[in-house]
Amino acid sequence: MQITAIRQVECPVCTSRTTVSIRRDDVEAISNPSVAAFGEQTKVTCSNGHIYWVQLSNGSH
Ligand SMILES: [Zn+2]
Repeated sequence: MQITAIRQVECPVCTSRTTVSIRRDDVEAISNPSVAAFGEQTKVTCSNGHIYWVQLSNGSH
């Protein structure tokens, strides 16, 4: 069974919060105004239409 966790991320432009679902519970969601060169990330559009990226970093590394 696949585990899904929910994280609230903050828009780097307007600080509006958006809920994102991630596949695992042990990762940290870090909002980023641009796409990172490596790592797993997901694209988010905030309620004000700003597009940013959320990097999912595993804190145990
Ligand atoms: Zn925004």
